[in-house]
Amino acid sequence: MKIICIGRNYVNHAKELGSQIPSEPLFFLKPETAIQPKGHPFLIPDFSNEIDYEVELVVRIDKIGKNIEERFACKYYSQVGLGIDFTARDIQNDCKAKGLPWEKAKGFDGSAQISRTFINKSELDLNNVSFRLEKNGEQVQVGNSKDMLFSFDEIIAHISKFYTLKIGDLIYTGTPEGVGKVKEGETLQGFIEDKEMFKVAVR
Ligand code: MG
Repeated sequence: MKIICIGRNYVNHAKELGSQIPSEPLFFLKPETAIQPKGHPFLIPDFSNEIDYEVELVVRIDKIGKNIEERFACKYYSQVGLGIDFTARDIQNDCKAKGLPWEKAKGFDGSAQISRTFINKSELDLNNVSFRLEKNGEQVQVGNSKDMLFSFDEIIAHISKFYTLKIGDLIYTGTPEGVGKVKEGETLQGFIEDKEMFKVAVR
């Protein structure tokens, strides 16, 4: 199982980080060990002073595929969930400045929060899925799939040119604007439409 994450898929988020708008989906991987065990708190690692939350819609692949055409991509997933791509922003900025890979900043243990449940895509309008993140009950990020630069299907077509997609693979599809730092004692709660998808304590 692999975790593939899309970067800069929302224009306003790319702008808030001062990043360029990509002309094709930009992606990176997290290892399987990045998955936060269900019900566990997020533990702030001691190697970073700036861990950011990034709430993202997540697609779970349920059919093996390679070189998938965009028009058939919808047959390769049936459910959408919600996750957080936790990011050690200080380390990422350092890696970027040195032209080094970001994995250290993105793939650490617990960096992939994932919802307990997924929503069947037949219950959603995939081009208009609203989602949000609350911190201690206050909204900090709000997004909608209509604002994605690259759709779920475009992302799957692009990634599958390079990587065979397998059952259970997760694709984090990018975060909207409003990312911010987590602090000990906070609670993060994610929603798709009005359905609570996860709740995680920060320790
Ligand atoms: Mg992200």
